[in-house]
Amino acid sequence: MSILNFFRKTNKWLDGADFLIKSAFGVSIVAFVILLPFGINNFIQSRLISGVLVVSIALLCLYNAWLGWRGKYSFPLNFFVIAPAITLGCANAVLTLGVVGSFWSYLAIFAVYFTLPLDKAKYASVAVFLSLAFAAWFSLDFDVYTRFTAVLLGVSFFIYISTREIAGYQNRLRKQLVTDPLTGTFNRVTLAERLDMAIEEYGSARTDAALCLLDVDHFKSINDSYGHDIGDEVLIKLSQFLMSVIGDQNKLFRVGGEEFLILMPGIELENGHRAAEDIRAGVEQLSLIPNHSVTVSIGVTEVASVLGWKEWMKASDEKLYMAKRNGRNLVVV
Ligand code: GH3
Ligand code: MG
Ligand code: MG
Repeated sequence: MSILNFFRKTNKWLDGADFLIKSAFGVSIVAFVILLPFGINNFIQSRLISGVLVVSIALLCLYNAWLGWRGKYSFPLNFFVIAPAITLGCANAVLTLGVVGSFWSYLAIFAVYFTLPLDKAKYASVAVFLSLAFAAWFSLDFDVYTRFTAVLLGVSFFIYISTREIAGYQNRLRKQLVTDPLTGTFNRVTLAERLDMAIEEYGSARTDAALCLLDVDHFKSINDSYGHDIGDEVLIKLSQFLMSVIGDQNKLFRVGGEEFLILMPGIELENGHRAAEDIRAGVEQLSLIPNHSVTVSIGVTEVASVLGWKEWMKASDEKLYMAKRNGRNLVVV
């Protein structure tokens, strides 16, 4: 692989990865590059124990970077090894080198926020601040010490505030990305992943799952007779009804204009059939438009007989098609 390709691949990978995976990767690479020469130097100076310790930590950083490269993140490794190792290294630097060693402390605060989830990082950063302030107490003059701790405290707050903002944006964006704006149900973005998860669970633990594909009957005529806005309102009210009846463990997706999919993990076909029948009857009773019957047709399938999510969708589509062909307002399993 040429160097250019290598960087292209890196960028492509970076685009798709989470902030924490990317930042933990970056911190680990930097920590590895900085630690390794110190480790080797320890061996050259015949300080074997320090050498083994520093090289081991450097290798764990490299392992952490490799995990990040593969899009993975290990909380125990970052919490119990990487963050404490960087903190202890920085505390040691300030303790032994004084002012010159104190500059590393700012990196330690960054490292905590860049390797740990925010809810853990804020507590860890307090521990880092206290460790560094404690170490500095023994090596800095009092007037340098007060400025050192004040700036370290300020930096800690700034990083906390900016990281919290980034995490807030990220959560809102992620939610928007997977949510259908009209109905508030899930859209198709996570559909394949969810179905494949259910298929894998069946493969590994024989956990059942049922899939209900639901389509509003003669929806086009609702739009034609009452207008698009009323059509939208029907979709919103229908989604609210579906969300209220399916329960927290089941997932509702809007997969087309007036087509919804309910994934029921842990539910076998017979119970899925019963739930679909209740939904069909429930929608009929809703009277979504006064003096106009709004009904749905549902195709129900189970996870057992499918290979992948596309096949599963196709099987459900065939059942739905049969429900339509047999007169609509029907459930077919
Ligand atoms: P069938 O019983 O066979 O399902 O008939 P249908 O009329 O429901 O099916 P068809 O696929 O012919 O029509 C679906 C209609 O849904 C066509 C499209 O204009 C409408 N539609 C798609 N998305 C939306 C939406 O977001 N809002 C509204 N109001 N209508 C939508
Ligand atoms: Mg329809
Ligand atoms: Mg349709």
